[in-house]
Amino acid sequence: MTGKKSFECASGKEHTFVVKQAKLIQVEILDGAEDKFLPNNGSQFVNLDRDNKWVDNKSVTSLGRLGFKPKIYVKFDLPGVSEFTLKAIPDGKNPSYTDDEKTRNSLFKFIEEEKTYQTESSGELVISDAFLSVGGKSTFHFEIKDTQGTTLQTKKLETLRKIFVQQIKMTGDAGKSAAGSIGTVESEYKKQGFVIESLPEKTMPEMENIGANDSASYKSAVKKAYQSSDGKKKEPYSLVVGYTSHLAVKTSGRQLSKTNVSVGPGSSAITINVAGPGKTNPAVRTKYLWQEIVSGESWFESASFKDATSGVVTAIDEKYCTAIAVNAANPNASSKVKIDVSKLPRGTGTVTLKVTWVDRMRAGLSFGGSNLICVCTKAWWKNKSSAQQNEVIIHEIGHKIGMVPGGTGKLPDKTDTFYDSSKGHVGTHCHHGIPAGQARYDSATDAALSDCVMYGSTNSHSAFCEHCSVAAKKQDINSGWPAL
Ligand SMILES: [Zn+2]
Ligand SMILES: [Zn+2]
Repeated sequence: MTGKKSFECASGKEHTFVVKQAKLIQVEILDGAEDKFLPNNGSQFVNLDRDNKWVDNKSVTSLGRLGFKPKIYVKFDLPGVSEFTLKAIPDGKNPSYTDDEKTRNSLFKFIEEEKTYQTESSGELVISDAFLSVGGKSTFHFEIKDTQGTTLQTKKLETLRKIFVQQIKMTGDAGKSAAGSIGTVESEYKKQGFVIESLPEKTMPEMENIGANDSASYKSAVKKAYQSSDGKKKEPYSLVVGYTSHLAVKTSGRQLSKTNVSVGPGSSAITINVAGPGKTNPAVRTKYLWQEIVSGESWFESASFKDATSGVVTAIDEKYCTAIAVNAANPNASSKVKIDVSKLPRGTGTVTLKVTWVDRMRAGLSFGGSNLICVCTKAWWKNKSSAQQNEVIIHEIGHKIGMVPGGTGKLPDKTDTFYDSSKGHVGTHCHHGIPAGQARYDSATDAALSDCVMYGSTNSHSAFCEHCSVAAKKQDINSGWPAL
């Protein structure tokens, strides 16, 4: 475009000059160094700050790909100050944030209104305050317009979040049951706009079992291994996946007896059922003997026979008491004890057995407020499969990123299938697959119907449902997590 300017010169003669107005000729997304331009559409790691420690030349190729304010270079064809506007244009498939969400969390906004800038006198400008929303899986480009009607578009950027996973496994047999790979975790999170990078694993000393009072010692052992891990260097975006083995709680001194038993040479062996009230469940039910959980710890405490006529009590040796497996497939699960009474002096009376039994097996340990996630690798003497462990890790990372949101604080809006602790399970979860409007969602029937990984108990589904998937994409993890 051209314009005309006239002025009086010293000679008093009027001259007319044709002055060319500057035109927008180039817009680029910077790719690290200020003279390097992003050659193709790229990714933007919106949770990471512009620090060289994040540039790995694999997923993050330059400083320019860090942060939610990518730098943009604008050039006009002539020197001089020129005015232009900029805004970000979202791809139509991006999850869109509601006004409520943007009010609660300003990081959910992107620069959607045109903003006016002026070039420097060189006719160029590097913009460093144009911002994208900090969710993932959103594609944007920037549109820049000069005042003469020229509009140019930048290359496209897809927003991603990066999380580093530091696994800490136990040495010895306990460690062998830990998941071999977290590939399912990585692929599910990729769908939600996260790059999960698994760091070199660390080990901690074996703990055969973590009982009711062992959580603190478990945590400090994990922490010790974590201090020298790569995960430590990736704070605050590292999550620690600690593998536990059995999480069994025992009860000692449980007394079982059988009356009117004939003993002595030729008498048949008797069987005593192991059953009783649990600490958490008062109903009388089958119990399993405390065996093969901690080396050197036996289920057997004592056994004796009291003759009903004489009142004489005779001890029964441990070698005459045999734990009977419930089935061959799980030989350590025993809820019956067979007692050979043929070695006792002949008589009739009561056999009393004192045992240690498994009060309960816990599904996991909870360490809120830090970057630690725990995965139980064994329950009831059986290893959890790698698939089951991946499912648990997906669920627990889900909680760390803010799932399932209830529309409070910096979180996205409440999902349609949200339920909280008042309707069963501790925490906020998803009842997708279960009819809505129930008073509770934690029955066995509910579990069988549920089909989202964010349901409140394991259900063999490792994917986010349609609602949770949108919420996971929207989540803001820019603050990261405090280290354990
Ligand atoms: Zn949960
Ligand atoms: Zn869901």
